[in-house]
Amino acid sequence: MTTLKPLSGCVAHYDPNALPVEAAREIVRQWAIPREHEARVERVGLFDALNRVLAEDVISPIDVPAFDNSAMDGYAFAAGSLTSALASGRETVELNVAGTAFAGQPFTAQADAGQCVRIMTGALMPPGCDTVIPQELVTREGDAVRFAATAVRAGQNRRLSGEDLARGKPALRAGRIVRASDLGLLASLGIADVAVRKRIVVAFFSTGDELRSIGEPLTPGSLYDSNRYTLFAMLRRLGVETVDLGIVRDDRASLENALRRATEAADVVISSGGVSVGDADFTRELMNSLGDVAFWKIAMRPGRPLAFGRLWSGERAGAGKSALFFGLPGNPVAVMATFYFIVREALLAMSGAALQTLVAIRARAGEPVKKRAGRTEFQRGIATRDDAGQWHVVTTGPQGSGVLSSMSDANCFIVLEHARGNVEAGDEVDIVPFDGLI
Ligand code: AMP
Ligand code: MG
Repeated sequence: MTTLKPLSGCVAHYDPNALPVEAAREIVRQWAIPREHEARVERVGLFDALNRVLAEDVISPIDVPAFDNSAMDGYAFAAGSLTSALASGRETVELNVAGTAFAGQPFTAQADAGQCVRIMTGALMPPGCDTVIPQELVTREGDAVRFAATAVRAGQNRRLSGEDLARGKPALRAGRIVRASDLGLLASLGIADVAVRKRIVVAFFSTGDELRSIGEPLTPGSLYDSNRYTLFAMLRRLGVETVDLGIVRDDRASLENALRRATEAADVVISSGGVSVGDADFTRELMNSLGDVAFWKIAMRPGRPLAFGRLWSGERAGAGKSALFFGLPGNPVAVMATFYFIVREALLAMSGAALQTLVAIRARAGEPVKKRAGRTEFQRGIATRDDAGQWHVVTTGPQGSGVLSSMSDANCFIVLEHARGNVEAGDEVDIVPFDGLI
């Protein structure tokens, strides 16, 4: 039996042949630390910064907005006009229009008591004015504007300078994955480029004598390699650099060669297939000579055989360059489930990104679901929301870990926790939606 190395000592009381998912993730978190040195940072222009990880805090060089301005199309005036009307028992405020302020074309004269300035959204608040009455709340005759003294409160409908971002304060923190709103935010600060972490490099390959590449004829017993395409897509969406090492045959020398090349080329190596205990499954054996093994098997379905550890490019563990290694199972759905729930977090951590927790939603099971206690199951679900806002979920049907169409049909994972047994119709379950907004 493989034993856990000291780094994973905190979970040493678990059986490494059936590690609970949470314990496996804890080990992965301890091993997956970003490489810290300056060469891992580069500056990129805003259009290239999307999805990159900020290497340092971005401090706002200016106030945004840079000046007090109107949040409405209407009339700007001094709140004193309201207080004096209310104090003298008048219900209506009457003001004279002294001029107009457009966005980009300020009204620069002083608006006196009894005066107001026609103002458009985004226009600089004229000197002496602190309140805006929206245009739909006034009656206007010639230059005279009238409105109820209770229609607006002092200071309303004005955006204060610095209320979005204050000068000298961190606008975005190191570790942030740059999203659409962040690009806009950086642009609003007049920042042209940012320091981001270099992308980590992930090498991946498929193993199996039965696998064929697209374009090759399918002989009896062979099938097309789909895992490399799934992995490629999931890796690209995480923003890492990818090195595709193709299909590796089920023999010890080919696999050893692939593992060494991958370790030389990448920060992380991901393989699929060959980690179960079949006669042609050499990964386990090689890991023991080339690397440090953290665990082999996780109490999860799909995904039970999963090798995780560190590989070395030299002649033995500890020699040469190292890379983290995930030996994923061969079944296509298992590849996706283990990637999202075990690998993803590690790649983000190594990329220097702050932890991005997957969003889980509570939903009611629309049908009974078979589940065995003692392992975490990731079933493929179709979730819908009813008129009352309640989420309901059913499975996509057969849940075999080779049925890749179950992933394409689904819009969420149904996550059934370790200790849980069978689910009855109507029971609450956690679902993790496939789609995020950003
Ligand atoms: P293994 O873990 O190597 O025993 O593979 C488990 C199952 O997954 C087998 O039925 C394989 O044929 C299948 N499989 C392995 N690798 C791939 C792949 N790259 N694409 C599609 N199916 C695969
Ligand atoms: Mg195989």
